[in-house]
Amino acid sequence: MPNPNRITERLFPSPSKYIQGPSAIQHAARYLSKLGRSPLLACDDYVYEIAGKSLIDALHKADFKVTRGVFGGEASREEIDRLSALGQEHSVDFVIALGGGKTIDSAKAVADALGLQVAILPTTASTDAPCSALSVLYRPSGEFDRYTFFEKNPTIVLVDTTVIANSPPRFLASGIGDAIADERRGAALCEQSELRRGLPTGIGGDRAEVRGDLVQAVVEANTLLSGLGFESGGLAAAHAIHNGFTAIEAVHSLMHGEKVAFGTICQLVLDGASITELDRYIDLLLSVDLPVTFAQLGIPGVSDEELHRVAALACAPGETIWNLECVITEDIVVGVMKGADAAGRDYIGRSGWKKV
Ligand SMILES: [Zn+2]
Repeated sequence: MPNPNRITERLFPSPSKYIQGPSAIQHAARYLSKLGRSPLLACDDYVYEIAGKSLIDALHKADFKVTRGVFGGEASREEIDRLSALGQEHSVDFVIALGGGKTIDSAKAVADALGLQVAILPTTASTDAPCSALSVLYRPSGEFDRYTFFEKNPTIVLVDTTVIANSPPRFLASGIGDAIADERRGAALCEQSELRRGLPTGIGGDRAEVRGDLVQAVVEANTLLSGLGFESGGLAAAHAIHNGFTAIEAVHSLMHGEKVAFGTICQLVLDGASITELDRYIDLLLSVDLPVTFAQLGIPGVSDEELHRVAALACAPGETIWNLECVITEDIVVGVMKGADAAGRDYIGRSGWKKV
C-alpha cells in the first residue's frame, strides 16, 4: 500500500505555554486565570485524593468556581459525551485535565466539543498525551477505537514535579519507553529547538538536589520533548503495534509506554537495524524494566491467531504504520513481532540479564 497521507511540510505544533516545577499546583491560579474562572476539572477519584483536593483549594482561594467531573477511567466517546454535558450544564469556561493519559485525552476531546481552551496538569510523566493536539480513544471494553485530531494543542501544560516524583516508578519508566519510541524521529528536532531556552533547570550541589534535578530532566524529556517530538516527527510502527496489542485482553493491564517499548523493538526490526543497534535499545529498555519479549509482556504463549489480530488492528486504515516508507502487510507485522521477541530473548540469553 502506498502512503496516502504523505505530507512533505515541516511542522512544529506545541502547547502555548509549558510550565514545570515542584509547586506548580500551588501556583496554578496564576497561570490558569488567563483561561477563565469556571473550569470543568476532569480527574478520577484516585487522583482527586493525591492532587485534586489541593488544586481545588488553590483555585478556590483565587475565587475560581470549579465544577468537578469525576473521570470514569476510559477515554471513550461515552465518557467524553457525559463530561461535555456536565460542562455545558454548569456553563464552564475552560477545561482542566488532572491525571494520566486517558484523563488528559478525554479532557482534550471535551474541550474541543465545547469549543473551550484546555489546561493539562499531568500527574504522571508516563505518556505523550499532555502536549499534543490529538486523543487516542478506546471502546468502553478497553480496545483501541481511533485517533481524534484537534485544531489546537492544549493552551497550558502545567507539570507539578513533586506530584510526579511521588507516583509509582513504573509510571516514569513507562514514560521513558514512550519517549524512546519517539527518539529516533523526534529527538534531533527537539534538541535544536529554541524552546529549551528559558525552561527552569535546577543546578544541584548535594545529592538530594542532584536527584531533584534528574527528576526535572526526566519529566521534561518524557512530557515536553517527547510530546513535541512525536507530533513533529510523526508516529510509526511502535504506536500502531501498541494499538494492535489492545486486541489482546492479557496486556490491557500494561501501561502505554510498556507496550510502546516492545513496539519500538518491532520498529527497529522492520527498519532492518543491526544487532548492535538492537542491543543498544534492548539494553536501555531492560535497564528501566520495560518489556522486550512476549514473556515480559505477559503473553509467553501468544498464538499466531492472536498475533494476526494484533497485526490487523496495527494495519487498520489511517494507522500510523502507514507513515512508513516500506511495504507493510499483516503478515510482515506478525513476522516483525516474532523477530522482536526473538531479538529480546537472544539479547537476554547472551548478556545474562536478570531482573533485579
Ligand atoms: Zn505514546
